[in-house]
This record gives sequence, structure tokens and C-alpha cells, in this order.
Amino acid sequence: MTTPHPPASGGPEAGAADMARRFDRQKRFAPLAEAGQARWESSSVLLVGVGALGGSLAQSMVRMGVGRLVLADRDVVEPTNLPRQVLFEDRHARDRVPKALAAQESLARIGGPTRVEAHALHVDGAALADLAEGIDLILDGTDNLASRYLINDFAVSRRLAWIYGGVVGSHGLVLPVLPEGEPPGACLRCLFPEPPPAQGLETCETAGVILPAVSAVAALQAAAALRWLSGSAAARATFRPRLMQLDVWTQDFLAIEAPRQADCPCCVGRQFPFLEQASNPAAVVLCGRNTVQVRGPGRPDAARVRAVVRAHAREVIEAGPLLRFDVEGLRITLFPDGRALIEGTEDPGLARAVYDRYVGS
Ligand SMILES: [Zn+2]
Repeated sequence: MTTPHPPASGGPEAGAADMARRFDRQKRFAPLAEAGQARWESSSVLLVGVGALGGSLAQSMVRMGVGRLVLADRDVVEPTNLPRQVLFEDRHARDRVPKALAAQESLARIGGPTRVEAHALHVDGAALADLAEGIDLILDGTDNLASRYLINDFAVSRRLAWIYGGVVGSHGLVLPVLPEGEPPGACLRCLFPEPPPAQGLETCETAGVILPAVSAVAALQAAAALRWLSGSAAARATFRPRLMQLDVWTQDFLAIEAPRQADCPCCVGRQFPFLEQASNPAAVVLCGRNTVQVRGPGRPDAARVRAVVRAHAREVIEAGPLLRFDVEGLRITLFPDGRALIEGTEDPGLARAVYDRYVGS
């Protein structure tokens, strides 16, 4: 059975009175009130990654009526996304629709005043600069550390607010990184100066992930975004961001003060190596060969990559220092320095995504 969908435009334009009434309960929330709602409705948010966290975040932004929402995601919808990526449906997975576009379509059916722009692309340093034009805050809906260290460098370099969110299994972390505030709060590198070694990390591929954990992390990020963007200058000055950690399974919750670290290379030292690295093309299409070359951030952990590949890939061949395998319809050749040739595509975003999934980022 098919259910008829209302037209994407939401039908006849809602009148101004309807729109004012739409947000009545939000405006009755005293810390927001009319003035806060007005600031919120004139705000622009960039959401990087529109999968699990990103889908929940996008829905919150549109439901609450932020002014403008820019979506960016490099992936397509797959069946394994559907248990927790709330904007996607069976048909999106069947047709492998780019996530940014499927999300835009689902968000349009909610209606409301938010202007939603969608970009199906890999977010590198150059793309981030374009996407962040006129943006007041960046939301992290990504699933990998390379993107988060890039966003942290970019946001701190521009003195833009961003809100980190990460989720694996039943637990997650949230950190609002805000450019103002006295005393100043931490950036990602105040807490984790370097990306942790990949072999120590759980990922959604190895540890799985459940929807309530995603919802909880996205809710804390969305609340921080609403509070920051709706706040007056005085209200922002009193916003002391905390590092929040939660586990929806064990029911453990922790929120700790996260002050700026005096020796932070990023927000104090003003060094942005992840932004500089990302401005070099990390994925290059090799013309006429149906192949993309991807460079990693460094030497991959060979033992970990071999374990992941043995679990997920076919036709695994170890030829001296090279590792070859077939996965997701692509043939990957991995070199010891982290460079990989990805045969079977000319889409740098897809190649980069597959690289990050199996080799790590
Ligand atoms: Zn810092």
C-alpha cells in the first residue's frame, strides 16, 4: 500500500498568523520568548553529515524553525541505515539516493519556514569554506574523527561555534565549542590534542549503534544549538559549555566543566594543521581508469585494517606490503603509507567514504 504524500512545498503557503501560532509553545518557554525565537529564526546552521545524528539534528532544526539549514553529506542511503537514520525510508535505500537529497525531501514534508539547502559532496577544507558562507553555527553529524578535527580547526580559525557529537553502541559524547564566554570553553583539541590511534577506537562498524543513543546525543546537540543561537549577548556570556557523556543502556550520565587549556595548539596556539591538510586534495580521480586515489592522514594500523578487511571484504590478497580486497563492489589496493587506489568508481566522495569505513580516518 502506498500512502499519498502531501506536496513537497507543504501545500498552500501558511499565513503569517499560522506561522506565528506554529511556534507558540516554543515562545512560551521563558528562556526563549519572542526575542529568542526571533534570533533563532534569523540564524543559519551548517550540518555536516546527514546520517544517524545528522538526520535527528536536521529534523530538530526544521521542526523548531531555524532560519536556514545547509546540509552536506557524501554518502547514499543503505538498508543498514534505516534502524536509526530517521529521515530515510525503504525507497531511499532501494534507490541508493544521496543522503543529503533524501533528507531534503523528507524535511520538505514537515513544512515550516526553514530554508533547506542540500549538498551531496565530501566535505574537505575548501568545501567547508564554501558551505559556511553566512553560517552562524556548525553541527557535527559526522561519523569520523578526520571530519571532526577538520571542523574544529575550521570553526576555531573563523571564531564560529560548533557542536561536537559522537555516538557508538549505546553511549555518546557531546561538546559545544563556543568562541565566546568567560572563562572560555574548550575546543576539541583542548580535550583530545591529537586524534586517538585508530586501533583503540570503537566504531559503529565494530560495536554497532542503537537509535536511543543517537536520539539522546542529537537532543543535547540541538538544545545547545538552540540556546546559543537564540541567546542575547548577555545570555551567551553565561553559557558554560560542558563535556557531556551518556550511556542510554547503563543509564550513566556525566557532565563536566570543560575549560580552555592554556597549551592548546588550536584555540590558543592558532595552528590549524587539519585544515591545511584537508585543503590539499585527498582524493584524486585517475582519468580514464575508473579509479580514485585516496590519501589517508598517515600510516594506517595494518593489523586493525587486516582484521576489518577479513571480516567484511572478499578476495583479500596480501602482496608484500600491499593489501588488496573487494568490498561494496569496489577493488581496493592499500599501500603502507596509507595511500589507496579505489577501482570501480570515479566519485571521490564515495571512494573517500569507503576508505574511511575500512581503512580508518
Ligand atoms: Zn583548544
